[in-house]
Amino acid sequence: MGPCVYDDPDSPNAIAGDGCVCWRASRDNITQLPVVARHYRTVTGNIENWTHYTFAPLELPKNERLYSLIIDHEADMQWVRLENGILHILPEVNGRGYSGSGPSDLAAMIEQIVEADGYGVVAKERETLPSDKVFNWVSSPAASRTQELTLEQLKALCRTGMVG
Ligand SMILES: [Zn+2]
Repeated sequence: MGPCVYDDPDSPNAIAGDGCVCWRASRDNITQLPVVARHYRTVTGNIENWTHYTFAPLELPKNERLYSLIIDHEADMQWVRLENGILHILPEVNGRGYSGSGPSDLAAMIEQIVEADGYGVVAKERETLPSDKVFNWVSSPAASRTQELTLEQLKALCRTGMVG
């Protein structure tokens, strides 16, 4: 990756003086996850945009315990807060995410987290469907609000179908 034309007008990424196609790597301040940005700028600057890509982890450290699951409706993302306070993106199977695949992946992840008592937050392909209790809640309007659910609430959800 060469420098951006803004940083070095003679960059190999520069196009005819003022245009640019470059990549920038940085870290997200909150999650410390790598973020890659692609910069695209035409020579005249009439088209310019930055596209950001982040990478969800496949698993969280196995000896760290989940404190809460955050459903972030505005950002269309799910986060995990660990007992040590650190925030992570909920691990997901490569490139799949939780919105595109419908609620079954998120429901199955919640069941997995509860079964492991908050440990072993790992993304994996699943062979079994989640229970109706969890699936129905995750599919309902109640789940589409931004909210933070503690491990106890997730356990209640698996038991009763409601977060209490
Ligand atoms: Zn650039």
